[in-house]
Parts: sequence; C-alpha cells; structure tokens
Amino acid sequence: AAFEYAPAPESRSVVDIAPSYGLFIDGEFAEAADGKVFKTVSPSTEEVLSEVAQASSEDVDRAVKAARRAFEKWSALPGAERAKYLFRIARIIQERSRELAVLETLDNGKPIKETRDADLPLVAAHFFYYAGWADKLDHAGYGANPRPLGVAGQVIPWNFPLLMLAWKIAPALATGNTVVLKPAETTPLSALFFADICRQAGLPKGVVNILPGYGDAGAALTVHPDVNKVAFTGSTAVGKAIARQVAGTDKKVTLELGGKGANIVFDDAPIDQAVEGIVTGIFFNQGQVCCAGSRLLVQESVQDEVLDALKRRLSTLRLGDPLDKNTDIGAINSAEQLARITALTETGEAEGAERWSAPCELPSSGYWFAPTLFTNVTQAHTVARDEIFGPVLSVLTFRTPEEAVAKANNTQYGLSAGIWTEKGSRILAVADRLRAGVIWANTFNKFDPTSPFGGYKESGYGREGGRHGLEAYLDV
Ligand code: NAD
Repeated sequence: AAFEYAPAPESRSVVDIAPSYGLFIDGEFAEAADGKVFKTVSPSTEEVLSEVAQASSEDVDRAVKAARRAFEKWSALPGAERAKYLFRIARIIQERSRELAVLETLDNGKPIKETRDADLPLVAAHFFYYAGWADKLDHAGYGANPRPLGVAGQVIPWNFPLLMLAWKIAPALATGNTVVLKPAETTPLSALFFADICRQAGLPKGVVNILPGYGDAGAALTVHPDVNKVAFTGSTAVGKAIARQVAGTDKKVTLELGGKGANIVFDDAPIDQAVEGIVTGIFFNQGQVCCAGSRLLVQESVQDEVLDALKRRLSTLRLGDPLDKNTDIGAINSAEQLARITALTETGEAEGAERWSAPCELPSSGYWFAPTLFTNVTQAHTVARDEIFGPVLSVLTFRTPEEAVAKANNTQYGLSAGIWTEKGSRILAVADRLRAGVIWANTFNKFDPTSPFGGYKESGYGREGGRHGLEAYLDV
C-alpha cells in the first residue's frame, strides 16, 4: 500500500512499442557497431514485438568507456545529489507503471496481476530504498568517504527483467558507481524503457548504459579489463564460468544463481494457508523463480489431506492471456525454456515419479505448460535434484523434523526454504539448521528491498538488497 498504482492495465494500447530499438550508450540510443539486430517476441502469442540492436564486444567496449568517463563526475557528486536522481527515477517508474507493467507482461509472458502488483511496486521500492541511502553513506559506520568500486558490469536473466535491473542498478548508483547492464536476450524491452526513464530523469550521460544482446555480449562485459565489479544473476553453469574467467583479476563479483527450494509443511500447519503458500511458492511467475519452493516436503500424516487440497486448488487456476487481469498462470518465457521443462518432466516420468497435471486447455500459439505435480518422488530422482524453472512441483514426505531438515539440505543449492507450522519454537529450530539464504515462515516468495537476498552453496555468493547489497558496491 506504500506504493500506490493506477487502475489495472488491461490493454496493450497503454504502451507504445517502437518497431526497433538501439543500444543505450552514453545517453543516446545507437545502432550496434556491426549493425546486427534480433527480434523479441511475445511468448504468449509468438508475435514479434520489436527488433532490437544486438551488442557485440565492440559495443561493450564503447559502453564501458562511456561509463568510465561518467564515473569521475558521478562518484564525485555529493550523495544528496545522487539521491535526487534516484528519487526522480523512482517517481517516474511509479508514474509510468501501467505502461511498464503491460510492456513487461508482453515481453515476458507473466500475468499482468503479477507485473502490476509485485514486479512494479518492488521496482519502485528498490529505487526509493537505495535513494534513501545515498546521502547517508558517510555516517553509516563505513568511515569517511566509502569508495565506489568504479564501473559495474551487470548481467541479468529474463524472469524478472525490470526487478533484476532495479536490484542491480539502484545500489550501484546510490554508492557512486556507473553501470553497463546487459538484459536477457528474450526480454530486452523494459530495460530499454528504463533507459528512456534515465533520460527523462536527466541522469548524466554514461552513468547507465544498456546493452541488449546474447551471452557473448555478457561474457565480453564480465571479462572487460576496465570493469571493476561484476554482478550476475542467471544459471549456475554460467555463474561458474564467470567465476573462472574473473579469477586472477581484481574484479569484485556477486553471483545470484539457481535454486531448488524446499517448502516444508508440518502436520500442525494451517492446511488451507499452507496450500496457498505452496501454490505461490511454485506457480508464481510459472515457477520461473530462482527461489521457488520447487520441492514440497510434507509430513507423512497430512500428505493425503495436503495433496487433495492442492489438486483442488490447482484445478481452479486460470491459465491464459497474461494481459487478462484474472489470469493466474501466464506463458513460459521462451521455446527453449519450454523444451527444458518438457524434457525434465519426461525424465521424471521415465524415472518412475507419478505425474499429475492440472486440467486446463493450453492456447494453440505461444509457449505454455500446465501446473504439474510429481508424487512418489525419491531424493535420487532428477525432478528432486535439478532446477526445472517451470510450474512443476516435486512432492517428498518426511516423518520427523530431523528428516525434514536433512532432506531440505540434500541439494547442491541453498537459496530459499519455507516452513509451515503453528509452533514458533519449531520455526526457529528448523530455520537454524536449514542451509538457505532466505527462509520464509508461514508465507513464501515475499520480498522487501530492506532485506538481503542471496544464496548458500551453488546458489551463488554475495547479497543483493538491504545494507548488504549496498556494501557489494563499496570499498569500505
Ligand atoms: P543464463 O545463465 O543462461 O542467462 C542469464 C543471463 O546471462 C542472460 O542475460 C544471458 O544472455 C547471459 N549469459 C549467457 N551466457 C553468458 C556468459 N557466458 N557470460 C556472461 N553472460 C552470459 O540463465 P537463464 O537460463 O536464461 O535464466 C534462468 C536461470 O537464472 C535459472 O537457473 C535461475 O535459477 C537463475 N536465476 C537466479 C536468480 C537469483 O537471484 N539467484 C534470479 C533469477 C534467475
């Protein structure tokens, strides 16, 4: 409620998408040096939305040079001056939130209900929050003049395009760094609209540069010798490759990678509330969430009750046009992601797990996957181990809290977990032993800019959000 929004955006007519977009370098939109472009499509219809310039290493070099030039002045500004720009950006995001919500839904496929009520309010909240820090750094116990790192090279995924941008750009600018950011290849549009917002806010040229493109541009950015800080969100495989590449350089690195979160339901949990939390945990954003509760650990004595209620609830979810305000389940972001989800679920069946899918009709064009459960799952099954990054929940059972903790921790990942119980003492005891960066109790997938977020184990290192997220951009 702190961030008020205009009435529901329900029509794509609220956003004006140009037939083509350039790269955003040094305050101007420009063609790629080699003239290459790529198409971005709406995953719910496969309609081409726009043609976007595709950055290469030459463009990365131009953008890093622009960010380096801008750094001298930007980092020398008093914090209060930087704060003014960030507050202005936050307010413009609020003013343009209908347009941005529709745009994000078109480019990503997620329901408008989510972009409107979750993504956009959080995007604005992050800019407000870090704007508030900019003039307080000298007095926050860091000593006089804590130093920004320099040029930040930031690479983000497609699941929360604008929110991931906010997580990365807001703390970087608040602390006096300048930025070159590469959005994911399937969702470049909201980052380009954000570039326009930077111009509207009068942000000095070169402070923010946006380079749409593929993994080669991301790789060129992360290894660029004049990039001082690398911030990456994406798959564990690419995160490890980046860690190897920057080893031996003086770059600071934060990595936000994959997850296989356990949502643990004890027999004393309020079942209806837990079922809602299970649904939010894995079907929010079609399960394309790094901290999704993709493993349900349910106490054996309430297994049948929970699964019956869950199937009833899943049967009521509305899948379809993401611009419809009533839609619960939108499209999968790309054909590649749909193929990945399909292959992993086929493996699940082949390995003997039992599959149940919600009864719903899938639209004839676009990329769709019905909400799906796997029961009879053992810890050795692929669907219990690999991140599916789709609307697929694997159900395991346990008898004792000790067994729940052991199973929850039996993963290469460590990003998130959930605990459902009426007992406060049990929440504390279990949370203490879970190896996960964020743990929710009697709720799931709740986010707040004041709270640090990040992983244990192969879910990455470093934190974004809160004061810890600020420190990732400072030499203290
Ligand atoms: P991905 O790693 O393939 O792509 C992510 C980004 O990295 C894209 O912008 C891509 O172009 C770029 N990229 C690809 N290869 C690169 C390289 N060699 N060097 C530099 N950049 C490169 O990930 P994806 O499959 O598109 O996204 C889904 C993954 O992201 C999931 O595994 C998910 O868990 C993870 N994710 C994590 C978080 C988090 O906060 N921990 C948030 C969202 C998504």
